[in-house]
Amino acid sequence: MQERFPAPEFESPSGSVFPPPAGRRVYCNRNLRLDQVKAVGFDMDYTLAIYRQAEMDRQSIEATVGKLVDRGYPEELRSMKYRTDFPIRGLLIDRKLGNVLKMDRYRYVKTAYHGFRKLAREERRSAYHTRRLRPGTGRYHWVDTLYSLSEVAVYAAVIDHIDTHGGEVDYGQLFSDIRECTDISHQDGTILDSVLADLPRYVERDPELGILLHKLRSAGKRLFLLTNSGPEYTDAMMSYLLDEALEEYPSWRNYFDYICTASQKPGFFMGKEAFAAVGNGRETRELERGRVYSGGNITDLQRSLGYSGDEVLYVGDHIYGDVLRAKKESTWRTAMIIQEMDDELRVLREHAVSFERSASLEHMHAALQDQLREQQALLKRVERKLAEQGVGAEKASWEAKRVLHRRSIDRLRAQLKELEAERLELDEALDQAFHPFWGSLFKAGSEVSSFGNQVEQYAGIYTSRATNLIQYSPMHYFQSPRHRMPHESGNTPGA
Ligand SMILES: [Mg+2]
Repeated sequence: MQERFPAPEFESPSGSVFPPPAGRRVYCNRNLRLDQVKAVGFDMDYTLAIYRQAEMDRQSIEATVGKLVDRGYPEELRSMKYRTDFPIRGLLIDRKLGNVLKMDRYRYVKTAYHGFRKLAREERRSAYHTRRLRPGTGRYHWVDTLYSLSEVAVYAAVIDHIDTHGGEVDYGQLFSDIRECTDISHQDGTILDSVLADLPRYVERDPELGILLHKLRSAGKRLFLLTNSGPEYTDAMMSYLLDEALEEYPSWRNYFDYICTASQKPGFFMGKEAFAAVGNGRETRELERGRVYSGGNITDLQRSLGYSGDEVLYVGDHIYGDVLRAKKESTWRTAMIIQEMDDELRVLREHAVSFERSASLEHMHAALQDQLREQQALLKRVERKLAEQGVGAEKASWEAKRVLHRRSIDRLRAQLKELEAERLELDEALDQAFHPFWGSLFKAGSEVSSFGNQVEQYAGIYTSRATNLIQYSPMHYFQSPRHRMPHESGNTPGA
């Protein structure tokens, strides 16, 4: 949303404008002083390595579908159309009914699809609004990584195909099969080998990455890489991203103090598994600079770093594995990379006028409803009086009042109807601008979405790509704008 009182802009000594433009800004949920951060860790996939989502989805869908057909699913799955623009992060799969859901922060299902058919309000209500929804149970599956979007694309397409062409399927079994086939495609190299064979097709090389890491190192911060990807894949990917980026760093390994691969997050934050040196397989509790390790645990990493807790900032993209677990199991500060923000911010910018109109319609709606309730109460009073009155001038006067109140009520109702129609049309158009099926990633109607809620709760800061940090001094103090409670707004002296 637009800031009501935009912060003043000023030019930094280097000539860049501060604050940076919206798409390059780092947003802050919880105050964070970068000068107090002594070590910065980075996840790799979708954090330093920016995957081209549509290409990744296409590759993943092809591999998954191939394996489904091998398992006995019909051959026609191969020639079906899959919509990679259907899924977003933060959706919930209902394995029992075969639906895909989007919830708000209170677990209220705001939007639901069966295949590509949107559930009508009544259908949605009877399935999800009569009993408390329990996302943690086996019936539901939370879509929380960009990797798993392709699974949703396949699930919805197959269900849609069955609905249109007839046939039967166990929705739960279908989802388990899709998940397994995608997992196997990742493990057996079907997907990763294709990525490595043509990195520029799948991964965007950010020219500022080397500069960012150098800037942080120059400010005296220790850097580490902490990824779940295996050592060979990590080496190939990081070489592509960083080798020859800066003359001072001939190898990508030179940027990092410690390199931890195959780390099995979120287990890494809770377990005690020793690090194993890649190459000789020797187990160790003390890390050496320049070596690549696999496995490991947070305690040994912190000891080697010489820093722990809130002196460490971890930058990742996965809400559960990187951000939520790091936050719950340690006091590491967290930065979340949300690449979808580019699109969200573009819509907010391009439709700023419509968002303002929508907000003012909401205020007007509330004010008109108050007036309507008031007129209805007055009418009731008049009608009571009329029932008590006999005949004569007094009765005529009450009758005149009744006519007036009724007119007001009719007028207010007509205004409300008009206003509601405009608001509905406007909100629908704004939802469409965000996403044709689900609207905004961060919002569900006028509420925060369950995904947005998790970002607010667990990500100290968040931004669309890691290199946006380059816009800020390594001493920067990120301050959360949410330092006021609702009752303070407008009630503070001078406000
Ligand atoms: Mg990742």
